[in-house]
Amino acid sequence: MKNAAEIIRIEKAKESKINQVDFDNLVFGSVYTDHMFVMDFKNNEWQTPRIIPYQAFSYEPAAKVFHYGQAIFEGMKAYRSKDGEVYLFRPEKNIARMNRSAERLAMPPIPEDIFLEALKTLVSLDKAWVPSKFGMALYIRPVYIATENQISAAPSTEYRFMIILSPAGQYYSGDVKVKIEKRYSRACNGGIGYAKAAGNYAAQFMPTNKALEEGYQQIIWTDSCEHKYLEEAGTMNMFFRINDTLLTAPTNERILDGVTRDSIIQLAKDNGLDVQVRPVEVKEVTEAAKTGALKEIFGTGTAATVLPIVGLGYEGDYFELPKLENPYSLLLKEMLMNIQYGLAPDTYGWMVPVD
Ligand SMILES: *Cc1c(COP(=O)(O)O)cnc(C)c1O
Repeated sequence: MKNAAEIIRIEKAKESKINQVDFDNLVFGSVYTDHMFVMDFKNNEWQTPRIIPYQAFSYEPAAKVFHYGQAIFEGMKAYRSKDGEVYLFRPEKNIARMNRSAERLAMPPIPEDIFLEALKTLVSLDKAWVPSKFGMALYIRPVYIATENQISAAPSTEYRFMIILSPAGQYYSGDVKVKIEKRYSRACNGGIGYAKAAGNYAAQFMPTNKALEEGYQQIIWTDSCEHKYLEEAGTMNMFFRINDTLLTAPTNERILDGVTRDSIIQLAKDNGLDVQVRPVEVKEVTEAAKTGALKEIFGTGTAATVLPIVGLGYEGDYFELPKLENPYSLLLKEMLMNIQYGLAPDTYGWMVPVD
């Protein structure tokens, strides 16, 4: 058996588009690099993995993904460190998570060695696209869809797995206010909330639009059974600081197991912060907001790294969060980014070099 690096077939782009890109004015997710990775599944096996020029492709209207949403994705980044080298951040976590999502949506597992090699080879080929400015990175989007032309409601027998790359600036979305949602849910027990399944995001759009109309940018979802516990927001896990204690919900089948969340918990613990991973009640947070004990709320995710929240809405009330001099959100964000950009030693072994 050949190793994964030997079996990826590479067709290079005739010329690079990189000179047409304005790296100072990147809109998140709108520019793609010269190459993409593709691997199809049919006849019960994965076909030759390929890297080809970034391009459009077509499927028939009967392709299963259009009807039943058998589609999952991942989100990760490649960073250029201070020494000019390029690194992936904890890629094994995303690979494992994608296969957990695949299992839940009855899709065949992606061979992990090929997935990792695909990431390294593709990023290496488009290395010039990894920005060097602190805060900028190359966003990596693996996506996996059902492609069989057959509209019976059963798992597809054919699939396409792809990876595309997009240079991204520092994610900034202005002041973010969040609303605690009690009517709609994004996930339920026994459901697919823990999977990065396409349909989970479609289900969020309408309730989020309603929140936007009310002046909020994001929703904090509560558990679908009782709407008693705070879960996550958009594509971010959530942290709440009450006095000097940092609270975040444990992952369960309704909550996406974020790589950023896991890294932030580790950094917070190792720097002596009091972190409690336990169900967080709506009531304790709104009560703390009333007494002033609620010091911070922040979200964590690959796109924004750590996103501080400025205010919280609940049942018609609005609580402004205090503006702190040295918030935990900033401290933890800097610690994580310093590791990602090679400004602090990677004592955890999180950074995986790309040749
Ligand atoms: C992707 C995602 C996150 C964040 O995960 P990271 O691995 O930190 O990027 C959190 N919640 C949801 C619902 C997500 O889709």
